[in-house]
Amino acid sequence: MILILTPNTQPDSPIYHQLIGYLDKLPNIQYRVHQEQGVEQLLTEVYLIGSTAALSLDYMTSLPGVERAVRVSEEYRVLGRHHASDPRPSHFDYNGVRFGQDNLNVFAGLCAVDNPAHVEQMLKALRDNGQVCTRMGAYKPRTNPYAFQGHGKTCLPYVFELAGKYGIKVIAMEITHESHMEEILEALHQTGDATGVMLQIGTRNTQNFELLKIVGRQQRFPVLLKRGFGITLDESLNAAEYLASEGNRKVVFGLRGMKTNMGDPHRNMVDFAHVPVVKRLTRMPVCIDPSHSVGTRAAGPDGITDISQVVAQGVIAGANMVLVDFHPDPATALVDGPQALTLPELPYFLEDVAIAREAYEKRVALRQKYADI
Ligand code: PEP
Ligand code: MN
Repeated sequence: MILILTPNTQPDSPIYHQLIGYLDKLPNIQYRVHQEQGVEQLLTEVYLIGSTAALSLDYMTSLPGVERAVRVSEEYRVLGRHHASDPRPSHFDYNGVRFGQDNLNVFAGLCAVDNPAHVEQMLKALRDNGQVCTRMGAYKPRTNPYAFQGHGKTCLPYVFELAGKYGIKVIAMEITHESHMEEILEALHQTGDATGVMLQIGTRNTQNFELLKIVGRQQRFPVLLKRGFGITLDESLNAAEYLASEGNRKVVFGLRGMKTNMGDPHRNMVDFAHVPVVKRLTRMPVCIDPSHSVGTRAAGPDGITDISQVVAQGVIAGANMVLVDFHPDPATALVDGPQALTLPELPYFLEDVAIAREAYEKRVALRQKYADI
């Protein structure tokens, strides 16, 4: 059961103390308090764990400071959507950018940072096209131990400074070890917090539970958790719940294709049919990564790349974030050049995304018009 407290209930207020005093006396019930300071108000949720079946919702709602009591199933307790009217939010704000199940952000950028000139060209193109988010890989998990592993912390100062220069608010950046989080924090601090970072946990680390717990214990950075490419959706959603159960619920869930030869000649089997499924089962915004799904810049006879086709499929189904590889000169990219789109393609790509988003919004309106069928 979750108790949702009246907004702005302060932890030092008499009402709060009265409520906690009551909860302390409940037999066989433990509780965990989660507070979230939003832009306008402090939201507090109290998670009750144990023998909650005997507690009546009406009675719990009548307790001091409680606005609502909700019974939740065991699955995805924090991030789950437990029934259609689950009153908990399905969005969060970070560094001035909203991430929600009701909007869309594009994160176009470099798969891997290679040099300052390419970073600057990429960021300038984004600024010129009205974008405030990007992807920049500094720590690259590679199949081959002899392959380029990313520039790591040495590139962070210029990446963050340039991001600040071009008005970029959020950079999605994969980390593969907790020390990377410290390095990012330090570099951000050195650049006077020129930008923001969304920590990305890649598909190879989806079930690295110790990393999930550590990243979940901080609330400074939101997290993009990629679906594991060889495990069930349920297992990946539980991985997201690890982050939230440790305290960080600013989590975006990323679909990036599944490993099977059935998807050939694409790099992975595109799984964007799961966009509405994740939105139904949880309150997380859903990201699609067409680059790592498709793995090639190839286009059909109509000239539209397979990458743009699957973006349209995901966006028209309600995706909330698109993470996509671009590069100023894909032939020289150190990682994933064959799937990178080029900078002159950026305005076209964004316009194409906007068409799919508009179609999605029209489809939602149409569904509402026929709400009674
Ligand atoms: C990436 O986004 O650079 C990446 C490595 O993704 P994934 O973990 O989905 O393979
Ligand atoms: Mn890549």
